[in-house]
Amino acid sequence: MTTLPVVLVTGASSGIGRACVDAFLAQGARVIAAARRVDRLELLHDENPNTVLPVAMDVRDRAGVTAALAALPEAWNTIDILVNNAGLAAGRGPVHTDDPDNWDRMLDTNVRGLLNVSSCVLPRMVERGSGHVINIGSNAGREVYPGGTVYCATKAAVERITRGMRMDVLGSGVRISQVDPGMVQTEFSLVRFDGDSSAADAVYDGVTPLLPSDIAEVVTWIASRPPHVVIADVLVYPTDQA
Ligand code: NDP
Repeated sequence: MTTLPVVLVTGASSGIGRACVDAFLAQGARVIAAARRVDRLELLHDENPNTVLPVAMDVRDRAGVTAALAALPEAWNTIDILVNNAGLAAGRGPVHTDDPDNWDRMLDTNVRGLLNVSSCVLPRMVERGSGHVINIGSNAGREVYPGGTVYCATKAAVERITRGMRMDVLGSGVRISQVDPGMVQTEFSLVRFDGDSSAADAVYDGVTPLLPSDIAEVVTWIASRPPHVVIADVLVYPTDQA
């Protein structure tokens, strides 16, 4: 009997992460679904009892991430694919007036969180000589927009980390990729605007945003290339986003 590949998806409780869980399950993988809202992950597990393992994880908490991954049951502790998806934007003001707590949330989640999880998963991938890390960046890492100074900086950092990691693991057989979505309709804007749904909805004025499944499709496509092929970075925009 062949064992199904194991995929760890961070930020699996909503949006792009949740869609990645569905897409990998549809391709016959088993998925470790990690996030803070465990109630949502439990529901996923109830629907897929043998193929989804819910794991409570705050990616900002390095010790907690390390402990959670060290405690994986043996049948789940060889991670073939890591999707570093957990992330957020917080605040909307210029850097000199915004609440510094918002910078911390973004830097700690989008940058340190990605490093925390990767540093636990990569050593065994390198040791085995196989594995794939797919980082979710953003078009925001390639530009900067009003009110987005720190968020854009965190996503630019993700792009540098992706490139650096690829050099770090060069020759090991491990693959490192990145997907940069444009506007995707998820809870992202609601989080950014602290639950203000009219501000969140206004983000999509005049644009038909991407669906989370559009990104998940690209992620699973990247993961299913032959071992000698690495898709380095893919930028995915809604057709009518400038
Ligand atoms: P959602 O808000 O729908 O999902 C974000 C996910 O990240 C949630 O599952 C949330 O889970 C998780 N998360 C947030 N903080 C933490 C944390 N500290 N520890 C663990 N999990 C965390 O937004 P999206 O699906 O849109 O966002 C996913 C990724 O896509 C992010 O990295 C985002 O920057 C990126 N992106 C999104 C775009 C968009 O337009 N939507 C565009 C470009 C990039 P929980 O709260 O349960 O912990």
